[in-house]
Amino acid sequence: MKTFSQNITRELKRISFMINTYLNDSKKIFVSSSFQTHSIPLLHILKSNYKEIPVYFLNTGFHFVETLEFRDKVTKMLGLNLINLNSYVSRNLQKDSNNRFLFASDSNECCYINKVQPLEKILLEKDVWISGIRADQNINRKNLKEEEITPTGTKRYHPMLNWNNKMILEYRKAYSLPEHPLEKQGIFSVGCEPCTRSYFENGHSRNGRWQGSSKNECGLHLDLISKK
Ligand code: SF4
Repeated sequence: MKTFSQNITRELKRISFMINTYLNDSKKIFVSSSFQTHSIPLLHILKSNYKEIPVYFLNTGFHFVETLEFRDKVTKMLGLNLINLNSYVSRNLQKDSNNRFLFASDSNECCYINKVQPLEKILLEKDVWISGIRADQNINRKNLKEEEITPTGTKRYHPMLNWNNKMILEYRKAYSLPEHPLEKQGIFSVGCEPCTRSYFENGHSRNGRWQGSSKNECGLHLDLISKK
């Protein structure tokens, strides 16, 4: 058993309490992961204590090859129960009337058919969705609570909401957990390849996504939360 700073110790206890409560209530749980560096502590925590929880990856078909390799490496290393979710719409049909891919002409629709729609089906089958979003990632996430409800009634649980980069690094170092290979190239928020720019290109870690538009979420953390 490792020794951590007070912050992390408190968060780990809280995560155990929450997940044990769900399991004691016989809830069907899953976690989604984008397999970025900051995703790895959560996967490690779950794998160490709750091996049975499946890990869903939204396989949009537009990921960097480095992300797919990192996903496979982490899956093998941690022995994850990985499930890839693909869009129902084939890549050839993801184009507008000018034959341009939707990520270039309608990124909201592209995110919907590649990310939101495939996950909607899973939400109908499950009771609790664990998502590793953090409050410090953008203004939308800052306003989220530890638990939220999706439009289908499935509960969302955000165990990493109060974590920050320092805590992620401390946890990763304690267990020698790897970082996403593109971080070395200045990509600290790795999304789909067409919609991601490096820190060196835009000067901000998360604003490298959907550069040139006001979009800062793919829809999973906007559309799949009940509006109050
Ligand atoms: S991030 Fe870009 S490529 Fe990926 S689903 Fe959204 S719009 Fe499409």
